[in-house]
Amino acid sequence: MKPSITKLRNYFRLEADKDYENKAIIGGIESMLEPWAAEARVDQIPEAIIQVVMVRLRDYQGLSQNSRKEVLGGIWKRIERELGAEPLDDDVQQRPQRKPQPQAAVKSEIKPSPEKVEPPPEKEDSPPQVRQEIEDQEPADLNANVTTLDKIGPGYAEKLKQLNIETLGDLLYHFPKRYVNYSELKPINKLVFEDTVTVIGTVKSIHKRAIKSGKNQLVEAILSDGTGALQITWFNQPWIINKIKANSQISISGKIDQYLGRLTVNNPEWSPLGRENLLAQGISPVYPLTAKITQNWLRQRMKALVIKWAAKVRDPLPLTLRESAEVMDLSIALRQAHYPESWSKLKLAQHRLAFDEIFLLQLGVLQQKKAWQDRKAQAYEISDDTFRTIIEGLPFKLTGAQEQSLADMRADLASGHPMNRLIQGDVGSGKTVVAALAAAILSQNGAQSAIMAPTSILAEQHYQTFLSLLAKENSGLAAEEIRLMIGATSESEKEEIRAGLSAGEIKIVIGTHAIIEDPVTFDNLQLAVIDEQHRFGVNQRAALRAKGDNPHILVMTATPIPRSLALTVYGDLDLTVIDEMPPGRQSVDTAVRYPQERELAYNLIRRQVEAGHQAFIIYPLVEESEKSEEKAAVEEYARLQKEIFPHFSLGLLHGRLSPSDKEATMKKFQTGEFDVLVSTSVVEVGVDVPNATVMLIEGAHRFGLAQLHQFRGRVGRGDAKSYCILIPGKRDAVENQRLKAMVETNDGFVLAERDLDQRGPGQFLGTRQSGFSELQMASITDLPLIEKARRHAKAIHHRDPTLALSEHQLLGNSLDRFWQVNSSDIS
Ligand code: ADP
Ligand code: MG
Repeated sequence: MKPSITKLRNYFRLEADKDYENKAIIGGIESMLEPWAAEARVDQIPEAIIQVVMVRLRDYQGLSQNSRKEVLGGIWKRIERELGAEPLDDDVQQRPQRKPQPQAAVKSEIKPSPEKVEPPPEKEDSPPQVRQEIEDQEPADLNANVTTLDKIGPGYAEKLKQLNIETLGDLLYHFPKRYVNYSELKPINKLVFEDTVTVIGTVKSIHKRAIKSGKNQLVEAILSDGTGALQITWFNQPWIINKIKANSQISISGKIDQYLGRLTVNNPEWSPLGRENLLAQGISPVYPLTAKITQNWLRQRMKALVIKWAAKVRDPLPLTLRESAEVMDLSIALRQAHYPESWSKLKLAQHRLAFDEIFLLQLGVLQQKKAWQDRKAQAYEISDDTFRTIIEGLPFKLTGAQEQSLADMRADLASGHPMNRLIQGDVGSGKTVVAALAAAILSQNGAQSAIMAPTSILAEQHYQTFLSLLAKENSGLAAEEIRLMIGATSESEKEEIRAGLSAGEIKIVIGTHAIIEDPVTFDNLQLAVIDEQHRFGVNQRAALRAKGDNPHILVMTATPIPRSLALTVYGDLDLTVIDEMPPGRQSVDTAVRYPQERELAYNLIRRQVEAGHQAFIIYPLVEESEKSEEKAAVEEYARLQKEIFPHFSLGLLHGRLSPSDKEATMKKFQTGEFDVLVSTSVVEVGVDVPNATVMLIEGAHRFGLAQLHQFRGRVGRGDAKSYCILIPGKRDAVENQRLKAMVETNDGFVLAERDLDQRGPGQFLGTRQSGFSELQMASITDLPLIEKARRHAKAIHHRDPTLALSEHQLLGNSLDRFWQVNSSDIS
């Protein structure tokens, strides 16, 4: 048995000894999960097993002693079966008496060297022997606590924690958000409107005043540098008055604006001018901070860290790889990223660090994919004749793209390995039928399927679709064999469903996360379908998987991600794109209207509602706070109801409503009780209200094209002509140019590509869903970088899939670290 498995067995046995009181480990079994998972990965325990352990033990504390016993027993059975581990309870005599400790924090391997010993300055073109020398030094232990550094005691360690910095590695990877070059400062009389600059000067005066009935406060200061004076204004940061004293010297950075013909700066970043800045030669970093840490303090610590430690960081990339990828050595890159010698070296450093991120991301994804492919699964085949019979029972003819995805899926199901496929198709492209047919193939073979939707409304919608597509003779399924299980399902019905699922009488269950949370067990769960995949985290997916035994997985998403990006983000999934709409779909008539033309839009809504249709009105996220988004929607809702549509019935949907209130409102709109739904951007993705024909979007400039397209997809789902009206905040040429794309095309992929060009991936994907939450340096729009990293990751993976070679040992460690931090939503 691998050491991590032995360790786990010891924990489990000790816990049994202690009657499952969760006292085997200080801090409870939950506290050992993360360190254990890291060890298990080093031991190359299959990720699925690690996930089972993590997911099932996460809430261990909340379980009864009996359930704990069952959970531990269940996990161990699986480990026994899949890894051939020893049973849990043999040789009772030899139980370990010593209390196993959770992995202790690794102590630093070296102490910081005394002040004067500085490593030789390295050059990026340093010859191999110098490189070798660097690598021969004692390595830096990046896991050592920050207190290892001079002048960082427990107090500062606590403050750094607020920046998520606990170890030397965290600190070393806390990169500047920008840089200033104090020797390239501009004198005030040379400033130009719209410059983004740093200026140093003396504060001539500073005062605070209230505006707008005392609600808002501003602090105004005059900064002078001898060549001229600059007016500075900070809005709503009244505390600044206590921080900046008149006649003190500060440096400010910001964008030059003008007001009544005078140059001004609004809300600049600022810092008191220390000796440090004045003496600073060249480019200085500007770090993200918390309130309790100053820029100068952090700069000094960083400088010490970089000088003493960066050189000792061992490069996880083998030299040959660094050379062929043409990237800078890591220690040099780290140093240059904090204290660049020049802008061009900074660029090279950033390139190297970005390369690492994408490279490690891809390498991890490739490993996951391989682990997945190496597993065995039940093979499911269906004869062409039977399949054709089922298809002939459908109410429509399949599109070519649907046929293609069915062919992909059938091949996966028949392969003997678990399917892990992402079906990506624009809203309305007909993904549901593909999922339904997958479930039908399984039920033909006596196996069960679970379909997961992110909300009850969507689950119900799918349930109805599945019934109408499958509950008929052609597919051999009866209505009772397809069931819906959501939060609102009564306990007695749930009981009945549980019985039906464990007896194998129910073939298809459709529902929400209620299915995962429920203690339901399946007789033979072999397919899990997950709709709108970004709404489910990796843990939930793993939990669903754990209900079956290596089930096939089909994931569906309407987020139209350009292929290049999909390969990066979802590289471990096989990808099918449905790029064709069912015939006869009318495109939605789209127009950009100016605020002054709003009345036209209201008239259109009136006419449509009077003709028996319904409309959506969407309000955007207003920047200041989420509260204002609601406020806008709530206030507008009241105004619309009273002044604009007094004879219609309006519903209101926003993020503060409880999930059940949201559902209730949505339901009332769906059933036609509301004529108009006023909503913030929370309106559900994928909800089908075929009778809705108008989508009016206020503040349209605040949304990305992909998101606007999602909104537009809420209408045009029935036979009637539908309309989408975009109202940007103001007449702004650039914005309107962007929104015009919506008028020009109804193709979600085209819009996604444009969005990506214009707004970048962070906005486009949202960091949480992208799984790129920890990417600091890399941009996923940097396709040449992605391509390069991908190529090298593939080459290494091909040669050494498990990173077993000694030259890849450091790389393996980096990979674990990276994925520990990044175990976000990547499937
Ligand atoms: P989405 O991909 O957004 O989940 P759905 O699966 O909900 O799309 O399908 C949208 C609508 O199109 C449904 O009403 C469905 O019945 C219909 N549909 C799906 N495929 C076809 C087809 N090949 N021909 C005609 N209508 C279809
Ligand atoms: Mg759908």
